[in-house]
Amino acid sequence: MTEQTSPTPEPKLEIRIIPVTPLQQNTSLIWHRETMEGVFIDPGGEIDRLMAAADQFGVKIVAVWLTHGHLDHAGAATAVKERTGCPIIGPHKDDQWLLDEIEAQGAKYGIADGKNVQPDRYLEEGDTLTLGGETFGVTHCPGHTPGHVVIYHQPGQLAFVGDVLFRGSIGRTDFPRGNHQQLIDSIVQNLWPLGDGMRFVPGHGPMSTFGQERKDNPFVGDAVLG
Ligand SMILES: [Zn+2]
Ligand SMILES: [Zn+2]
Repeated sequence: MTEQTSPTPEPKLEIRIIPVTPLQQNTSLIWHRETMEGVFIDPGGEIDRLMAAADQFGVKIVAVWLTHGHLDHAGAATAVKERTGCPIIGPHKDDQWLLDEIEAQGAKYGIADGKNVQPDRYLEEGDTLTLGGETFGVTHCPGHTPGHVVIYHQPGQLAFVGDVLFRGSIGRTDFPRGNHQQLIDSIVQNLWPLGDGMRFVPGHGPMSTFGQERKDNPFVGDAVLG
């Protein structure tokens, strides 16, 4: 339950990774050093801990960004909006059915305080997001869920990949509407072109780089895919 301190993505941006829920989902708190405006990416739960972290660093939360609709990623999004008045942005509209199921699914996963989510804006392939003047790219990466997106900051070489890719693994595709081949295609066609040097924060577990995964990931490494 300790906060991980990760390398600074860019001189103007600061990030803290806060694992939440029994599933230890990596919520990212990222903020702009000059404006002190920040966003939560995938606030899955433990709203009080998340807001305490924002307060601790003096960050004003201006948005929630969601990679996909699973409850461990989106469960606290509505609560953050209620407390701060900020908009919820993402994921792609094809995950709305999951956002509508968060309360119903909560009991199964021991995340009883999750709330259903209605985003203020859906994300699509090629969209951009801004934080304090810094621009982030968006790529639609279906497979783990149909509406999964990856959000990345090219200048800082940092991507937030949710449950698409992990250190040494890839996202599960045995959930409803999961698709293994689609997931592989998303990773190879949408993520690898962002460059080997791109570091990524996965939804669970430690950070890595796309280059490292191409080298030795047993599911999507170059040697495996041929
Ligand atoms: Zn997921
Ligand atoms: Zn997850």
